[in-house]
Amino acid sequence: MRKRIVAGNWKMNKTYEEALSLVSEIDNMVRDEVSGDVTVIVAPPLPFLQSVGKLTQGNDRMHLAAQNVSEHESGAYTGEVSASMLKSVGTEYVIIGHSERRMYHHEDEQTLYKKVKATIAQGMTPIFCCGEPLEERDADRHFEYVGKQLHDTLSYLSNEEFDQVVVAYEPIWAIGTGRTASSQQAQEMHAYIREQLARMFDAEAAFNTSILYGGSCNPGNARELFAQPDVDGGLIGGASLKSRDFTDIIKSF
Ligand code: PEP
Repeated sequence: MRKRIVAGNWKMNKTYEEALSLVSEIDNMVRDEVSGDVTVIVAPPLPFLQSVGKLTQGNDRMHLAAQNVSEHESGAYTGEVSASMLKSVGTEYVIIGHSERRMYHHEDEQTLYKKVKATIAQGMTPIFCCGEPLEERDADRHFEYVGKQLHDTLSYLSNEEFDQVVVAYEPIWAIGTGRTASSQQAQEMHAYIREQLARMFDAEAAFNTSILYGGSCNPGNARELFAQPDVDGGLIGGASLKSRDFTDIIKSF
């Protein structure tokens, strides 16, 4: 059965002290207010991973994600961090293929495939992001665009490897813009993604894959988005930096 997940991507925000306060607040609110079977993930900046992870350890609902991983195992790659390093400090999930990494760091499908493989090889779960830019949506090529992103990376995984994957659909025009995909647009794309996954693997694997929506998700729109049959939760940027908003999104299931 697929998991319901709300993941917060803190991106390059917060000082060390602010990060510890934020995670403590979220941890307390989740303990006090969240009752359903929802998996809550926080993805702090890399230097804070271990400390943030320690603060979530006693809470079964809370899990730790990294925002990036190297495609290499080890060696002379200055500035990079390997999957085994992330694993060794308690990381369980890794965000891979976020549009900001594709755009600013020129990560192509081959690199993303290697990152997904490296993550799975360490027993962690990749949160694989896909999503189209505005011009592809406007030209009515969004399904084709996202289908290719999925195919060019995930289709090379074995069935066993794919079982570890979470997918996040994040239309680029909705990220940080305040312009959310409508629940209908999200549902249509999530259903399409599940259909593509069923073709690449099998229907059962596709059915069991959590597909998250990301893009200006907030406490005001999360309930309607999460009510869609193929929307299994959210990958949250801006609103994950405020404990109240993030917890309210978690409570929107
Ligand atoms: C994101 O960057 O993954 C994201 C969804 O950002 P925001 O919620 O701020 O649109």
